[in-house]
Amino acid sequence: MHKKHSETTPSSAERWTNCFASITIGKHIEDEAASEYAIEGNAAHDLAEWSLDGLKTVLKKPHDPFDYPPPGSILVTEGKKEFKIEITDEMSTAVKFYVDYIVHNAKGAKLNVEKQIKISEKIFGTVDVSFIVDDDCLHVYDFKYGKGIEVEAKNNKQILIYAGGVLQSLGKKADKIKTVKLAIVQPRIFYKKKVKVWKITKKRLQQEINKIIKLEKERQKNPWLFVTGEHCRWCKVNHVCPQQYFDFLYIEKLKNKYADGLQKISIKEILKVLDMKTSISTFLNSVAAFAQNKMESGFIVPGWKLVQKRATRKWKQKDQKMFKFLISLGLEEKDIYEPNKIKSPAQIYTLVKDKEARKKIDTMTVKESSGLRLDQEKSRKFEVDILSHYYDD
Ligand code: SF4
Repeated sequence: MHKKHSETTPSSAERWTNCFASITIGKHIEDEAASEYAIEGNAAHDLAEWSLDGLKTVLKKPHDPFDYPPPGSILVTEGKKEFKIEITDEMSTAVKFYVDYIVHNAKGAKLNVEKQIKISEKIFGTVDVSFIVDDDCLHVYDFKYGKGIEVEAKNNKQILIYAGGVLQSLGKKADKIKTVKLAIVQPRIFYKKKVKVWKITKKRLQQEINKIIKLEKERQKNPWLFVTGEHCRWCKVNHVCPQQYFDFLYIEKLKNKYADGLQKISIKEILKVLDMKTSISTFLNSVAAFAQNKMESGFIVPGWKLVQKRATRKWKQKDQKMFKFLISLGLEEKDIYEPNKIKSPAQIYTLVKDKEARKKIDTMTVKESSGLRLDQEKSRKFEVDILSHYYDD
């Protein structure tokens, strides 16, 4: 499906609302090909759309994602290229989780699927699913197929924009809305909550949307404002970002200044370095990935070469013939097979749904941290009381 493209996309809002220049500089850099994960994610979204389409039929129930018609693949268009993506069981399972969650919460309400929205001339996009329950609660859901990085609903600018856009599109009906339920559904996230919900008032939503629109206007007046931070992780130009370069110069200066030890480093300098930590490591990884990409297409980077990753030996096939062969070498069954190993508590948890049984499991487990680590004050982790941590009595 072709969708009009916006520079200030909702999905990149966390980045461009922090760093205006990321949009300006991005215009001068050739677009990178979409990653295989992004293409797979698009296929999963198409499968979800097809499944929810079933609600419009006389049966009034979603299509089962496992029943997608032959040949069991989806064609995804990226730029001028088309990719045929196979629908795997993993994809169907994830989509089913998402669809079941929607159906359970919608309680028969009319769904808007893949709805185009906008909150201003420059900020628009497509919302996965929205619906209204009991006339006054607007639900807006975003499906994430990725499993690598956990996405929060709270303060998530992407879903705020979606909700703001849906609210605007409701016209007079929006007057009745009192609360807005924002949900990120990420079925493939392992050992963590697959659904993150943030419930806010309509007033709060409107305040947040006004802030985002204001930032977009400021961006137009100040298009070369660079700000580094955690958002650099999502920046497609971080391998050529001048601000990253200046950050490196600053680090270099500090390295020289404190070559004999960090004892005299000031709190201001510590804070500045900690702020840069994520963006600099992201920058280093991006440059390495960029260089590898170029070398794979024939470029020469002096002093560097491409090598195979460490190879591990694998059995060509594990069957009876193989087993007999190992026995013929004089090995015994116990030498060939690994003994059964008890799964981790987290793995067992995924198999046991009963709350009481889970409580009993908890009594059989202990949680052991491997040590302390730095984290930002705003994170959801509990702060360690350092005195009781080291002096237990
Ligand atoms: S890397 Fe960070 S500072 Fe540089 S353009 Fe991207 S978002 Fe802005």
